[in-house]
Amino acid sequence: MINVSNARLQENIKEGLQFMAIPNIDPAEIAKFSELSAHWWDTQGELKSLHDINPLRLGYINEKTNKLAGKTVLDIGCGGGILAESMARMGAHVTGIDMTEAAIQVAKLHQYESGTSVDYLITTAEQFALERPGQFDVITCLEMLEHVPHPESIVKSTARLIKPGGQVFFSTLNRNIKSYLFAIVGAEYILKMIPKNTHDFAKFIRPSELSEWIRQSGLTVKDITGLTYNPFTKEYALGSDVAVNYFMMAQSPTCS
Ligand code: SAH
Repeated sequence: MINVSNARLQENIKEGLQFMAIPNIDPAEIAKFSELSAHWWDTQGELKSLHDINPLRLGYINEKTNKLAGKTVLDIGCGGGILAESMARMGAHVTGIDMTEAAIQVAKLHQYESGTSVDYLITTAEQFALERPGQFDVITCLEMLEHVPHPESIVKSTARLIKPGGQVFFSTLNRNIKSYLFAIVGAEYILKMIPKNTHDFAKFIRPSELSEWIRQSGLTVKDITGLTYNPFTKEYALGSDVAVNYFMMAQSPTCS
């Protein structure tokens, strides 16, 4: 007779071994973000767009979580800490993980200037899910999924890391003609808002794909919100247009 908990344990071990054997990391992406690391906190530099969208996304997360203050938050792919620090400033207890060592060093150093106290670690979501399952009220994973070989594995890891009833926030780029024109041709080549080759169109993710991975992980999609950029006013806005950049918020089931 098969013991269910043993079967689950076996499955966990097998997956853990798979994660270790095939790390979900693209070395070219890590090299790219290492090169950018020195510019992470330059609000007018190559990562300007992340600084520009941060107040909007912070407001969105704070509203959907009914206030971040006091919550235990994990930021996956935190980079130099733009979002992680801002959530800590709102009173959240934030852990930031990233596989670009140079970005984590920048994030740690920046805390001396800003006086925040985020716990920064160099690790993968998959590894962290083995070490700290079920420990976070809120998980954020913004502008990161399109930079890894197996984004569905990140989604699965968030389902393990989140507490029952907790909320997981993803943001990424949709895959269609409009997102190609706006996020690659417009942002990288015409307006030069971000460095060339920041994004690979083939790795963009349709909301239908992300929501399917979320469902397969046992989480439930609760909200989809678009993020748009108006090149004439140079302003970003949240709304129903998910054609280019979008947020997806998911919730884990509460304990029965
Ligand atoms: N989430 C941050 C940074 C986005 S840039 C923000 O929105 O402000 C994408 C980040 O993903 C980079 O910091 C890069 O180092 C990180 N990243 C890429 N592959 C990763 C991986 N396999 N594991 C963890 N982080 C990764």
